[in-house]
Amino acid sequence: MAEGFREDFEVAVVGGGPVGAAAALGLAEAGRRVALVERRQPQIEVGPLGMDLRTLALSPASQALLAGLGLWDGLKPTPYRAMRVWEERGTAAIRFQASDVGRAELGWMQEYGPLAQAAWQRLAEHSHAELIVGQAPSAVEPQRDAVAIDVGGRRMRARLLVAADGAQSRVRERLGVKAQVQDTGQVALVSVVRTTAGHGSTAWQRFLHDGPLALLPGHDESTAALVWSQSPTAAARRLDLDDGAFSAELTRQSEACMGEVCALDRRLTFPLVQSVAASFNPHPRVLLIGDAARVLHLMAGLGLNLGFEDVSGLLRTAQGALDPGAPGLWRTFARRRKARAQAMVRMLATLQGFYAFKQPAIQWLRNTGVRLVNDFAPLKRQIIIEAMGLGPLAGRLS
Ligand SMILES: Cc1cc2nc3c(=O)[nH]c(=O)nc-3n(C[C@H](O)[C@H](O)[C@H](O)COP(=O)(O)OP(=O)(O)OC[C@H]3O[C@@H](n4cnc5c(N)ncnc54)[C@H](O)[C@@H]3O)c2cc1C
Repeated sequence: MAEGFREDFEVAVVGGGPVGAAAALGLAEAGRRVALVERRQPQIEVGPLGMDLRTLALSPASQALLAGLGLWDGLKPTPYRAMRVWEERGTAAIRFQASDVGRAELGWMQEYGPLAQAAWQRLAEHSHAELIVGQAPSAVEPQRDAVAIDVGGRRMRARLLVAADGAQSRVRERLGVKAQVQDTGQVALVSVVRTTAGHGSTAWQRFLHDGPLALLPGHDESTAALVWSQSPTAAARRLDLDDGAFSAELTRQSEACMGEVCALDRRLTFPLVQSVAASFNPHPRVLLIGDAARVLHLMAGLGLNLGFEDVSGLLRTAQGALDPGAPGLWRTFARRRKARAQAMVRMLATLQGFYAFKQPAIQWLRNTGVRLVNDFAPLKRQIIIEAMGLGPLAGRLS
């Protein structure tokens, strides 16, 4: 690389959300000179119930990545040991327990703000990393030996550009990479709630006729993150309810699994789409990871976990490569990650469709199937292991 080392990097990561920040930190730890470009400072937004509205489920595979990066010990995640899934029109329920697979927990709930901030703090002190905050690239130009990136009036060159700038990725758009977008016909209504009974370290998910309602363990026993997928019409009506009426409806619709809802944070909604980029490696020197590469329905809490799988695979593939943007280096990685994304999008669309059927015969079949899965320990174990990111499917496509 030529003129002015300060301007030149082995890798430039655009987007400092949890995925981009973890990738940048892992690369810096491996001795790469890295730039992280983020358009705004990570913020910790704590509402009246003391919790970030965006709380994410982390799998054991994600925990292992964060521990390897030295980030885990600084976080205060809430472990959950069980998950109960049931439906409005049935009598069957599945209960997944960590003890079914000989573990202490199935995963953890972690607030978004502190996670991104922990990675940023480490990057700010890192001798191999440069943080460029409050800026977004105004041009991105892949060349034969490097990618030129214009940021804040300066032109930087990096051997590899990693786009981790989220679902509305501007880098993806600038490079003309199309994304196949599937509207799920649902929006997510999110909030934080306080209830009269505890969550019991359980993630609760009830499939209602127009979408799943999840109450996920918060930092104390009586607090939970609400993620309620539903039709836009239902969400508009529920946003209009006053707090008391909304709480009463939520208590009823959740069958008071955590007791009565007695307090809540503000309610937000956003559209639920699923998307997969046409290519995760549109140029030998450009990679898309995290939500910039694929967006999944929230019902399985997998989005960030797949993003962290990208990071683990990226760090493995980059290991020992003289040129991190060498032709062909990322071909297999990108193919596997896209196949994994497509499989998950299909699986979640099928699950959504499966619970949408109202015909009595299909309901009977669904309840019978759910009961069979619940009673068949080996199949249940396999489902749990895959959901934890520790199964053969996750391994093959990482
Ligand atoms: C309410 C909610 C609940 C969720 N629950 C879960 C869950 O339980 N489990 C789970 O796995 N996933 C969950 N998800 C999905 C999860 O939040 C995302 O999959 C995850 O945040 C993706 O991380 P990311 O770093 O790829 O993108 P983001 O978190 O979106 O970060 C992208 C970053 O890029 C920056 N950026 C954007 N454009 C530019 C630009 N042009 N230049 C520079 N920087 C830019 C943004 O400021 C941001 O910091 C949830 C999402 C929401 C909204």
